[in-house]
Amino acid sequence: IKRKHSGSDLTIFSEMTALAIKNNAVNLSQGFPDFEIDGRLQSFLAEATHQNFNQYAPMPGNPLLIENLIQFNAKRNLPIALAPENITISPGASYGIFTALAAILQFGDEVIVWEPCYDSYVPSIEINGGIPVFLSLTDDFQIDFEALKNAINHRTKAIIVNSPHNPSGKILKKEDYDRLAELLEGSQIILISDEVYDVLTYDHGEFYSAFNHLKLKNQSLCIFSFGKMFHATGWKIGYVLASEELTAAYRRIHQYLGFSVNAPAQQALANFLEVFDVEENRKFLQKKRDFFLETFRDLPFTIRQKAEAGYFQILGFENISDLSDKDFAVWLTEIGKVASIPVSAFYQNANDTKSVRFCFAKKEETLLRAAEKLKDFF
Ligand code: PMP
Ligand code: GLN
Repeated sequence: IKRKHSGSDLTIFSEMTALAIKNNAVNLSQGFPDFEIDGRLQSFLAEATHQNFNQYAPMPGNPLLIENLIQFNAKRNLPIALAPENITISPGASYGIFTALAAILQFGDEVIVWEPCYDSYVPSIEINGGIPVFLSLTDDFQIDFEALKNAINHRTKAIIVNSPHNPSGKILKKEDYDRLAELLEGSQIILISDEVYDVLTYDHGEFYSAFNHLKLKNQSLCIFSFGKMFHATGWKIGYVLASEELTAAYRRIHQYLGFSVNAPAQQALANFLEVFDVEENRKFLQKKRDFFLETFRDLPFTIRQKAEAGYFQILGFENISDLSDKDFAVWLTEIGKVASIPVSAFYQNANDTKSVRFCFAKKEETLLRAAEKLKDFF
């Protein structure tokens, strides 16, 4: 069967996790926590099935979950008030991005993506008939506005941005959104803003949503993931914020794709949002990032940028090996017994970045075990 996209046959995340299992390596590759989720979330899920939340949820999402998201966001100094017409619950953020693209693209439309970027963007553009246009983030993972200005033309339909960023952990600032707004003003271009690590910011790093920008609000589809927020990546539930008009366009596709999302899990998420402590959660993850940096400090890797947010830290290995980053990641898994993700996987034309990405959203004992294996190895 003819492929509809230029992505790989097996994503790098599945590939490296399988390699980690095969080699009995500590798996710091694919981004998933190895610690328990909050016990209250587990109980809410059990309760929801007993309360008979077992049939189809409404197409836009469970009303209590939508209401609680409105309350949750109102408490987070986000200046723009949300209404139910702005929110659609989605079966995961990847689905949200795909469906957003399906809602807005016509064949031949161009979509600007910033490399390094998450691996689902380009296949999602291509499957929906769009043409990806690749731009590079600067060396410190900032948007190159001059390049963006030059890339925009009458075929440009959308720009995908990701903040906090996977793999670098970089957070875009309000000023970045001001400049994006300036460039998009008066155009029909849609901003697809992947914000799945929104609550996981460290060192007082401030998350800013495209939906909070008065000038971008009506041109943006913002994508979130409860999987990341509550460390339950296997639940595969997220939500999409957009203007009423874009939400309607999104739902016109969603009603025929997923139609609705796992009902008991939505009810559990709704109840959990009422007790969720963002600050505690942030501190919990920041401690893991700091523990990772501390335990890896004496290893011969280099840190180019400390992660400001998210689940990941990129480390350079130029002082260790001349291998390409993919070969290095495979070697480190097979021989060093620690799995990571080569950063070239976030580029279309596998540039050799001489760096790999480690997931620090793990138990301290897991991070310690990884560091000890590498200390013995180097
Ligand atoms: N975007 C980014 C930047 C991610 O890292 C992920 C991670 N998994 C996703 C989207 C997809 O999230 P989900 O599992 O909710 O589909
Ligand atoms: N987002 C996760 C990561 O970056 C992976 C999700 C997946 O396996 N597709 O590691």
